[in-house]
Formats: sequence, structure tokens, C-alpha cells
Amino acid sequence: MPKRPTLDLSEVLSHVGLTREYPIDVPAIVEDPLYGVDAVRGSIRLTNSGSALIVAGRVDTVVQLECCRCLAPMVEAIGADIDEQFVLTPSRSRRSPAAVEEEETELSGRLFHGAILDLAELLRQVLTPILPSRPLHSADCLGLCSQCGKDLNEGPCGCLTASEASRSRLGTLLSELRDRSD
Ligand SMILES: [Zn+2]
Ligand SMILES: [Zn+2]
Repeated sequence: MPKRPTLDLSEVLSHVGLTREYPIDVPAIVEDPLYGVDAVRGSIRLTNSGSALIVAGRVDTVVQLECCRCLAPMVEAIGADIDEQFVLTPSRSRRSPAAVEEEETELSGRLFHGAILDLAELLRQVLTPILPSRPLHSADCLGLCSQCGKDLNEGPCGCLTASEASRSRLGTLLSELRDRSD
């Protein structure tokens, strides 16, 4: 199994006022509901302000989605700005790293293990909320027939639409009335 991508922040966390920028190029992240099909690329800038660790940057990748109308698999490029801050507790000795304070939630995994940032977890947390909620494989996707399930992008099915069905019911009634009046 390939090593999980991480960043060692010891240097930044040991020096108040220091900013470091790192390129990001990590393998596709696949963790439901995020289905990456390409590397996540971009850059990340970390600043130790003394009281906070400021994490800023930008990442782009490509994910696999399912068209919300016809359920066809599709890929889409997504990109996110990173803009996070974490409270720092200064270390007692001048040259050892400050501790990053992290709010633990049930939904998000731990980002920091001492001075090591779990980059894959950070990117997962940044990218998951920006996934399109109603992806369309094409803006004019016709979707599936609600009665037989046929993909209407491939052509019409034999089913009548609701309005056609009510019109034909009316037609049947009218012809029955006509037959009776004969
Ligand atoms: Zn579709
Ligand atoms: Zn149909």
C-alpha cells in the first residue's frame, strides 16, 4: 500500500512568523462520496502567526459522479480554495514545535498527528463539501422513463407520458359516448 501523503510541519511550527509553501500532487482520493479519478494538484501555504496556524491554498482534481437524471457515470473537474486556521499552543522551549489544537468531530478524521499534517485527510475535508449535489452529464439530459426505466437519451420508449395518457383516456371515453349515442 502506498504511503499516505503527509506534510511535516515541524519547521513552520517551530518558528513564529514563518511561512512555507508546498506543491501538492497526491494520488486520487477515493473515500465515499468522493471518487477521485486523477491526482489532486495545487499548492498549500502554511503560516505560523504565533497564535494560529494559517492554512491557505488551492487544489484541483477530477472526480467521478453519477448523472442525477440518467445515472450515467460522468467525470467532472472540481477545484477548491483552502482557507483554514488552527489555534496554536506555543511550546515551552523556544525551538520545539508549537502544538496544533484541533476540534474533533465525528465526521472528520484527525488532521494533525503532532507536527505531521495528514494531507489526504485535509484534501478529503476540503473537496467533499464542493462535490456537485445534482450533477448532469449534459445540460439537456432527458433522464430515465419513470415507467419503464429506459434511458430517454437513447431515444423514446413506448410508454405514454402522463399528459398523453390522460388525453387518450379522454379520447376513449368520448368514443364510448359516441358509440352509445349511435
Ligand atoms: Zn444524464
Ligand atoms: Zn418508458
